[in-house]
This record gives sequence, structure tokens and C-alpha cells, in this order.
Amino acid sequence: MDELVKKWDEILNYLKNEYAITDVSYDSWLKPLELFQIEDNKLYITYNGDQNSMTLGYVTRKFTTPLKITIEELTGIHFDEILVISQENANKLKQEKNLDYLNINIEETTNYEERRIGNSSINPKFTFENFVVGRNNRFAQTAALAVAESPGEFYNPLYIYGGPGLGKTHLMQAIGNYIEKQNPNTHILYVTSEEFTNEVIENMRTNNNATAMQRFRDKYRTVDVLMVDDIQFIIGKEATQEEFFHTFNALHAMGKQIVISSDKPPKDMETLDDRFKSRFDMGLMADIGYPDYETRMAILNKKIEEKNFTLDESIRKYIAENIQSNIREIEGALNKLIAFSRLEKIEITMEIAERELQNFISPNISREITPQLIIEVVAEHFNITVDQMASKNRSSSVVRPRQIAMYLCNTMTDSSLQAIGLLLGGRDHSTIIHGANKIEEEIDKDENTKNLVETIKKKINPN
Ligand code: ADP
Ligand code: MG
Repeated sequence: MDELVKKWDEILNYLKNEYAITDVSYDSWLKPLELFQIEDNKLYITYNGDQNSMTLGYVTRKFTTPLKITIEELTGIHFDEILVISQENANKLKQEKNLDYLNINIEETTNYEERRIGNSSINPKFTFENFVVGRNNRFAQTAALAVAESPGEFYNPLYIYGGPGLGKTHLMQAIGNYIEKQNPNTHILYVTSEEFTNEVIENMRTNNNATAMQRFRDKYRTVDVLMVDDIQFIIGKEATQEEFFHTFNALHAMGKQIVISSDKPPKDMETLDDRFKSRFDMGLMADIGYPDYETRMAILNKKIEEKNFTLDESIRKYIAENIQSNIREIEGALNKLIAFSRLEKIEITMEIAERELQNFISPNISREITPQLIIEVVAEHFNITVDQMASKNRSSSVVRPRQIAMYLCNTMTDSSLQAIGLLLGGRDHSTIIHGANKIEEEIDKDENTKNLVETIKKKINPN
């Protein structure tokens, strides 16, 4: 505890910089945090800021994981859990020294849904119920359902592949939700391959290598179901690939279910080790193709219904006819119309739809490629925000997208380096050049980067 107290300010500051937390956020959420006590390898922290029905829950959800990681990095101390409690509860606790009491109060005063820490990687939004089945995805849907019903039994691993925005992640999450509902005790772990990679790298950086590695293995090798999304990003990264290989073998040997997604089948992944190809061949491959018109229409209708919106038949047809190769874009188009309608408080007409959806559809007019657009598309691709792209955040999950944006802005537009730098959080021209060059070199050397950049380019300019 003493060491923590000594380093507490440093820990908070480090956290602020590392996660690019804004001043206002820091003042409202982090500054009011005070160390309280350690019990059962759990760290109790009090929150002394303004309290209402959501503050404790919010602080818990947003900051306890980053805090855990930061504390571990700066002090080497690992906590199983970090709990944020109110000052009031802390006082009572001091008097009564009674943990049961505390636990009850935590349940009452915080309303965070994610108490199920084990399976919190599963998003309840994506289920089989709201997955529309069409010719293009019927096989994959059936395979996924079979795996969900009998994890580890018949199809192991399940390998789902297909282009972006066609429902791979949705299906994986549906498997997770289904299993969890059937058997809440099943330990399910869903990770993106970026998360997996980052953890491996993080481990190699940690001083205390052996325990860090052990913890990593404990985490990955004690699950009943492991899902790794977008595996194409792991392939080619030596250490990560190696670690994944061992994880895979260990789980497979124990009869645990593995689900993998990728943008292409194993045979087309040139740099994929033969060891993997044979492992993947043991299981089941399922591809998702492009949806036909009827399926696109059915999905659109489903989303409209979910979002409690109404949209004229002719406009729905307009969307389903024109956006053909990516469900995510169909959803994006719909969201845009919903936002417009709610903001302007008017019903969407064909004229409005045509105007507002130019960027999604643009049959003849090709949309202008601006650095702004590129940054948005890159951020979307990596599932991070535009603000993060412009922030000082130096974690690899942000640095790489940022460099890719630098490269693309530099090669796809006539904008000056200064202008690009300005959009990316006021970076100077040498930083932009450095980032752009780095990606350019990688493209020459590495097939994956080349593919990745090609994919993003197509998103930016589909024509
Ligand atoms: P991928 O992982 O293949 O890139 P996602 O699973 O993220 O794609 O799908 C993108 C979006 O499209 C998600 O919001 C998902 O819910 C939706 N979607 C894709 N396919 C379907 C489908 N068959 N039914 C309903 N929604 C779908
Ligand atoms: Mg996905």
C-alpha cells in the first residue's frame, strides 16, 4: 500500500497521458479518486467527486481496467479487481470493518451491468435472433449455431471468413451470447486479434517476464470458448503468431471450442504458416458472401424495426439497391437518415435521402477524397474515434492507424504536410513524413500491410 500511496499521483498522471484523457475528464473522474484499502488482493478506491446514480458505475467501467494495467506497469503489483466505492461506504466500512456489508452496498450504489466480468467481452447486441439469414450467409449461420449448441464437440475450430461488414463479428458474438444464455458458467473469451497482439507485446515488455507470461497463459488457456476476430492481422507477426499457435493447440487438445474469423480463407493467406493451415483444416470453414437484394432489404428492414424508425418503401429500395457489398454501410446510411430526421424533426423524403447519402452511394459523382474523409474511414476501420487519431495517445492500437492515415493522406490527396498534421492533432510535417514513410516501407516488405492498406483504400474510394 505504501508504494501505491507514494506513486498515486504518478499513476494518475501516467494514465492521463497514456490514455489521452482530457483535462475535464481527468478533473471529474480521476482526480477525485483516493486509495482506500487492499483486501483479498482487491484494491478499494474511493470516489470523492460529485455523486449521482451513474458516477460510481461510470468510473468503474471506464477506468478500472486502465488503472489496473497502469498500476501493474508502474509498480509491478497485480490486483485481481479494483473496486470504486463512495466515501460514505468507505466511512461505514472503517467503522464496521465488515466486507459483506460493503459488497451489498456496492451492488446497490453502482449500476454497472458488467458485473459478469468473465464474459464481458460479449456484446448482447448481436444475437442469432437479429441475424438475418440469406443465401450468402446461411451456411455460416448454421455452422455458428451448431457450434453454439455444442461447443467443442463437432466443428473445431470454426473458421468464418468474408469481406468487411458482412456479419462475421455479429455471428461470433451471437455464438457467445447463445452459449452464455444456455450455460452462464461457460467461460467465453472474445478478442480482436489486435487485442491479442497487444497483450503479447505488452507481456514481452514487462520486466517480470515469467509471471506476466504465466498470467497471459492462465487467461487464455483456461477458457471454454476462445474467439479471435480478424485473425489476418496476427499472421505475419512472429511472436504473436507463435503464441497463438500454442494457445490454439492447448485449447484444442482439451476439447475447448475455438472460433476464428478472417477476411479470406487460409489457403489465400500467403504468409500463413502451414502449421496453421493444417490446424484450421481439422475444423469447419464457412464463408459469408455478398448479400443479394432480398437479403439486403430484409436486413435493412430489421434494423429499421430495431431502431423504431419509419422509412418509406421507395427510400428503402433506394438504399438496398445501391449499397451492395457491405452491411455496415447500409446501417451507416440508415443511421445518417435517422440522425438527420431527429435533428431536423422532419420525415425523410427521397430528395433528402439522395442528398444525405451521396457519400454512401454516389453512383456517378465520385466523392471528393479529403484528408478528413481518410481519417474518418481509417478510424472507422480500426474501430477507434477520430479524436483518438488526433490525440497524443501512443499505444500501438492508435499509432498504427494514425500512421496509415498519414500515408494515405499523403498519397491520395494534394494536401500539404502541414494541413495533414493539423488535422492529426497539430503534428509537424516531419512527423507526417516519418509516419507515411514507415507505412510505405512496410507495404513493400509485408503482404499483410499491403492488403490492409488496399482494403482501406477501397473503403475510401470504392470506384
Ligand atoms: P464483419 O465483422 O464481417 O466486418 P460485422 O459483423 O461487424 O461485420 O457486421 C457489420 C454490421 O452489419 C453489424 O452491425 C451487423 O449487425 C450487421 N449485419 C451483418 N450481417 C447481418 C445480418 N445477416 N443480419 C443482421 N445484421 C447484420
Ligand atoms: Mg468484424
